[in-house]
Amino acid sequence: MRALVYTAPHQVAIEDRPRPQAAAGESEILVNVAGICGSDISGFLGHSRRRVAPLVLGHEFVGRRASQGAGGQRVVVNPLVSCGRCTACLSGAQNLCSSWRLLGMDTTAGCYAESVVVPDAQVYDIADDFPDTRAVLAEPLANIVHLFRLAAPQPFFRMGIVGGGTMGALALLTALRLGVRQVLVQDVSEQRLAVVRSMGATLAVNAATDEGRAQARDFAGYGLDLVLDASGSESARQAAFDLCRPGGQVVLLGMAKERSEIDFVSSIRKEHRVVMSFAYTPVDFERSLGLLKAGEIDLTPWTVEMPLEEGQRAFDTMTRTPGDTLKMLLRVS
Ligand SMILES: [Zn+2]
Ligand SMILES: [Zn+2]
Repeated sequence: MRALVYTAPHQVAIEDRPRPQAAAGESEILVNVAGICGSDISGFLGHSRRRVAPLVLGHEFVGRRASQGAGGQRVVVNPLVSCGRCTACLSGAQNLCSSWRLLGMDTTAGCYAESVVVPDAQVYDIADDFPDTRAVLAEPLANIVHLFRLAAPQPFFRMGIVGGGTMGALALLTALRLGVRQVLVQDVSEQRLAVVRSMGATLAVNAATDEGRAQARDFAGYGLDLVLDASGSESARQAAFDLCRPGGQVVLLGMAKERSEIDFVSSIRKEHRVVMSFAYTPVDFERSLGLLKAGEIDLTPWTVEMPLEEGQRAFDTMTRTPGDTLKMLLRVS
């Protein structure tokens, strides 16, 4: 089968790979369309220790059950596989499973291929008229559902989002559904700021400019109730703490930097509560899918599709000149 393989930092190539065989309790899915995630980009750039070449990347996809042929039941897949037996799994925190694995990571091949095999319980049937551009967001949006479940913001909260990429934009749209009163988004790309303004951000500022940072400080005033770092750069993490009010909550989601410095004393004096959010559980995945089926969250206007064969161009675009593209899709079949 055709697969897009990460072969070296900044390089992907189409290769012929053996088609995986489904064992008992597993389903083979024929991939129609696959999304490029920030974590796939980090792997492509050679920044991820758990995505080492050669590896088929990718974990966001829409496909059909192979057992029923090309016209088989249409599905999305929860690509985070947990053991179901460890203490974390039994407590409902499958994202913290002691042996979790993700498609397109470590030794598990991803979905930039014609076919993938996953445990049956990971597969969710969807209707034929549910658009690919929304269905493919089930996995990224599940991360956002999860963080709001952990953060449980108070009613009429004021929020800050540092980083207006795909996750920042999904967090903005979700916060608006949750009843956020005002939301500030910071980014360094004017095109992304324009996008989040059109989505309903109260204020979107360029954090690369003195003027933008001053606007953010004025807006935050005493401080925001909940601030999300959806970037993970050193400056973004500190900015999230700086925007947070005394007693407020900072949610750390972005994983760009493994280590970074934080001004802890200022945060201790403000009694900042810190929530670190990682991935999602099956319940979060189902809730995410529900929001997408209902059409309540949608990134279609900022979604671009390229054929799997143009994977190199797709990755180059997303790393160098993403512009206002929030989700790049690879068409497999
Ligand atoms: Zn993802
Ligand atoms: Zn487990």
